[in-house]
Amino acid sequence: MLDCAIIGGGPAGLTAGLYTTRGGLKNVVMFEMGMPGGQITQSSEIENYPGFYQHGKTGMDFMETWQEQCFAFGLKHEMKKVERVSKEKEHFVVTLEDGNSIEAKTVIVGTGSTPKRTGIKGEDEFWGRGVSTCATCDGFFYKDKEVAVLGGGDTALEEAHYLSNICSKVYLIHRRDSFRASPTTVDRIKNIDNIEIITNTIIEEIEGDMMGVTGVRLKNIKTDEKSNLKVPGLFIFVGHNVNNSVLKDEGGNFICDMSDWGQVVVDLSMRTSIKGLYATGDMRIEAPKQVVSAAGDGAVAALQVISYLQEES
Ligand code: FAD
Ligand code: NAP
Repeated sequence: MLDCAIIGGGPAGLTAGLYTTRGGLKNVVMFEMGMPGGQITQSSEIENYPGFYQHGKTGMDFMETWQEQCFAFGLKHEMKKVERVSKEKEHFVVTLEDGNSIEAKTVIVGTGSTPKRTGIKGEDEFWGRGVSTCATCDGFFYKDKEVAVLGGGDTALEEAHYLSNICSKVYLIHRRDSFRASPTTVDRIKNIDNIEIITNTIIEEIEGDMMGVTGVRLKNIKTDEKSNLKVPGLFIFVGHNVNNSVLKDEGGNFICDMSDWGQVVVDLSMRTSIKGLYATGDMRIEAPKQVVSAAGDGAVAALQVISYLQEES
């Protein structure tokens, strides 16, 4: 039986692996369905992780040393997709997609979340090259420049507000004329001078060149009027899918407490409502969705696992 099964090999899972193994646990396996590294490996540049400030280094470069470090202390990686986690009496059963299962005394889940895509022409081509889903990560690259934001929910409006402090102008593009975001947030946004709200409008195409995005082609769906917006950056906030399916039982019910938005409810020690089960990184409530916070969560959960196993033995 494993001391700890870690599910997901992004910043949260890798850090949990480092702290559990370096903290003396011998039998720790990280189930990561792809290469370890997580979402940040899609990023063309990262400059907000303290201590790592190298112009031009990609997210892939950044994560490479994380795996080396973790594996050096004994973390094992199984490149397998986890189907589900269940608790049976005092231990957990981790069921893999290939039908095999493995028992574990504790489980740390860090399967992340996936920003929804729109399917707009040019979105895939310019993803990470002017198309972003993270204002905290990429807003600074557009300091004193004009950018566009797509979406009408709380996230789009809050991120537009954040960008308005960095960028010279923010065009907020929404497909309807009423917003899904809370009325107080909408009122706040309407009073910010450098945010221009463009409603009843869709983006038909994201345009660009070798260097990245150069603009967006817009269409007003009420009037059919078309226009162009010259911007070097487009931030898309049309919702997130939390990768929480491993926490559903065979009947489709969650095994631990979840928020209305599908995030795992945890306390400050990353404990879920099930003893011995921890959730970390982008998938937990109130997640700042940053590498540094995901790594912090992984460390916190790992230290809790070590204490928990000591208490139980
Ligand atoms: P993830 O990184 O999402 O890792 C989860 C892992 O779990 C994935 O590798 C996935 O393959 C695996 N997994 C999922 N389900 C299963 C399963 N069933 N079985 C096995 N494995 C599974 N943050 C910053 O701090 N600074 C930045 O500059 C920055 N830029 C970004 C740029 C881009 C393009 C993107 C997409 C994100 C960026 N972020 C940035 C956000 C940052 O990447 C995330 O906050 C962080 O990676 C979250 O870490 P995590 O470990 O919680 O989840
Ligand atoms: P959301 O509420 O689902 O809003 C998504 C927005 O994107 C909607 O305005 C939607 O338009 C638009 N959209 C969806 N698909 C699109 C497409 N293909 N093209 C163009 N626009 C598209 O998502 P969210 O803003 O990420 O919020 C998720 C949940 O978290 C919500 O419940 C929200 O209240 C909550 N949240 C709360 C806070 C807070 O309380 N401070 C902060 C952030 C998020 P339509 O409106 O036309 O459908």
